[in-house]
Amino acid sequence: MDCIRIRNLEVFGHHGVYREENKLGQKFIVCADLYMDTRTAGLSDDIEQSVNYGEVCKLIDKHMREKTFYLIEAAAEDLAKAILLKFDRIERVELEVKKPWAPIGLPIEEVSVKIDRKWHDAYIGLGSNMGDKWDNINEALKKMSLDDDIKVIEVSTLIETRPYGYEEQDDFLNGAVHITTLYSPSELLKCLSEFENLAGRKREIHWGPRTLDLDILFYDDIILDTRELTIPHFDMINRDFVLNILFLIKQ
Ligand code: ADP
Ligand code: MG
Repeated sequence: MDCIRIRNLEVFGHHGVYREENKLGQKFIVCADLYMDTRTAGLSDDIEQSVNYGEVCKLIDKHMREKTFYLIEAAAEDLAKAILLKFDRIERVELEVKKPWAPIGLPIEEVSVKIDRKWHDAYIGLGSNMGDKWDNINEALKKMSLDDDIKVIEVSTLIETRPYGYEEQDDFLNGAVHITTLYSPSELLKCLSEFENLAGRKREIHWGPRTLDLDILFYDDIILDTRELTIPHFDMINRDFVLNILFLIKQ
């Protein structure tokens, strides 16, 4: 992917685990690789079609000067998130924070932390068969769109489906939503579980009635099988409606 590269921006900050560092401050150096499509800007020669790297530098300088972190890991995390939230065109950022004067009592040229962060593509299955089903699902979508780390891209139509697995229960209202997110898969699962809990979700019968069920169907193109998380969602192929909905929103 195309990239705008910011190399060795010098900034002043008070980050460090020692009190003296927080008091006196020191020089930090930041590099940022901003991944985005520069084709339209390249053809139109129009700054409006690109990202103003001067603005990105100003943001880095402001955050590094005004906030105080113990760790350069935390400073880097803060910068990457701020850049991805503020500049819509940037899909991914590689960010390095260097500390050339790290006070370790040994001659060292510099120490740095380099991280790679991006908006990940995910598809979330939505389900409810208790209480006000429409309201439960719409409330979950609202919570997603209010979360800084999630952008709602597209919501499928919601459809009524017969229960699967445990049939002595009310019909489900089901759908799916395409999002982009800064969360890792396990952070996303935790966030979705909180939304389920806020909707009064209780886990009593496996496959039983629920006010809200939010499942991660896909996350980028990863394949994952841990104790807490299976992606793609493990019994997706048993649920026809999910495939229909994915067909709808993936085209
Ligand atoms: P189900 O959605 O299968 O009807 P639950 O919603 O009660 O069941 O989820 C039970 C557990 O499934 C969760 O605690 C979670 O750890 C696990 N799980 C595994 N893979 C996924 C996934 N892709 N999305 C959501 N939950 C998952
Ligand atoms: Mg679930």
